[in-house]
Amino acid sequence: MAEASAGAVELQRRAIERALARGGAAAVREGRYAGTYRVLSGSRDDAWHDVATDGVRWHCSCESRHRPACWHRAAVYLFRLEGAGLRVVGAGRRDARAT
Ligand SMILES: [Zn+2]
Repeated sequence: MAEASAGAVELQRRAIERALARGGAAAVREGRYAGTYRVLSGSRDDAWHDVATDGVRWHCSCESRHRPACWHRAAVYLFRLEGAGLRVVGAGRRDARAT
């Protein structure tokens, strides 16, 4: 189980990197209901993916929805962090977390 968990964490890390490369939280719009969001598709200009979360479980309408992570969910994750007052920027500043 630990190996599977580590794999999921790695997938999530990569998804966050992809989300940052696509504008991060800026790609996200809040949905009609609490905990629902829309993310502009990276591949089709007119397509949106629906993401829903209660903070624990995450669902996305995209073709990667059965995988542990996709960049739409990662973008919403970043959006929610920014909503909580945290600013997330791209990789390459690993010195920032060394304290
Ligand atoms: Zn997705």
